[in-house]
Amino acid sequence: MTILSASKLDVLSRCGAMARLEHAEWGEPRYRERGRAIHEFLASVGSLGYDRALELVPKEWFEDCRAIDVSKLPACDPESYASEVAFAIDWQEGTARELGRGLARRYDDVLLTEVAGTCDVIGIAADRVVIFDYKSGFAELPDPRENWQLRHYAYAAARVFGKDCADVAIIRLWPDGRSATTLRTLTSEDLAAFALELRELMRETLLLKANEPGGYVVGQHCRRCPAVPFCPAVTGLVRNLAVLDEAKRGSPEEMAAQLSELPASAQTEAYGRWQAAKAGLELVEATLKILAARSPIPMEGGKVWGPVLSTTSRYDGGVAFRVLQERFGNEVADEAVKIVSSQAAIERALKPLPRGDGQSFAALSREVLGEIEARGGVSREQTEAFRKYDPSKRPALVSER
Ligand code: SF4
Repeated sequence: MTILSASKLDVLSRCGAMARLEHAEWGEPRYRERGRAIHEFLASVGSLGYDRALELVPKEWFEDCRAIDVSKLPACDPESYASEVAFAIDWQEGTARELGRGLARRYDDVLLTEVAGTCDVIGIAADRVVIFDYKSGFAELPDPRENWQLRHYAYAAARVFGKDCADVAIIRLWPDGRSATTLRTLTSEDLAAFALELRELMRETLLLKANEPGGYVVGQHCRRCPAVPFCPAVTGLVRNLAVLDEAKRGSPEEMAAQLSELPASAQTEAYGRWQAAKAGLELVEATLKILAARSPIPMEGGKVWGPVLSTTSRYDGGVAFRVLQERFGNEVADEAVKIVSSQAAIERALKPLPRGDGQSFAALSREVLGEIEARGGVSREQTEAFRKYDPSKRPALVSER
């Protein structure tokens, strides 16, 4: 039987059918490895110290971990915080217990009426528990107040440590070293409501598992669903995409014209199905890469598709500039060598520097970035990107196309 852990509750709340299917890790192994390396690094900073924890990071992920400003993160204070704490909630009884620490997500003695999960970092304050969860991926996530995983940890920790409320935070760690924390408070009423919702969800899931053959709800949550490799709804979508020929599918313009005649709710549904199809296609890509790594896949014209080693030469900008300047003058050197930087790279370089007179890092960063701007060292260009946004905070960019 598939074990339902806290990290799967959010998808389960949107599609109960996922509980019926087998689960597997899927997607780019590289991203999973990166996420694991970051979690292990952060979990060991508290117990081993920053330098030793960084030494143990695999070479490939060293720069990603080094770029994280651990001074902002709670794992650095072992006196007040514990990391990798596993809990189980008995959803029938509403009780909770601590399973242990550093269990590497292995929940061997969990009961059928329990849902287990491992909290990245937990802190115990006088009147509340504080829950932090690191997220190193790119997927869109529910707000911490609506996040089943964090609500699970908050409820369990509050019960185990005898507290009435909880602060819950998601710490996003981006590949360029930036981090962002979203913190919310769950009151005792919020925690009590969660216990009822969890009981309801698990009861519905068991009923659905027993009685309904279908019940698949495709949507963007599918990208976080561990059942994607086994889901008939997603594989059906991908198969349809793969077999429809151009004539049946119509041109992009014809499809856009048809979609624009649909009511907004149908367009929202189409968006969800597109996300689900993308999840399926990501799985197809990951599977093909595994197969091609074992044996390259034949392509037209006698070619094959598979992993290849490619070498990219990086030329030192300073040396290249001097050589070109000496031989061809400033114009050619300027044309060939561009020295560019980014806010993230500048802040990374500034972070370890000592600061005087109690100056905060934010103040130093503002000062340096401001000086660069004042000297004409900043140019900005606007690009159009598609993402979810709040229309009350920024105007819609509407085109006539
Ligand atoms: S992939 Fe989507 S539709 Fe399929 S089981 Fe998971 S959540 Fe449901």
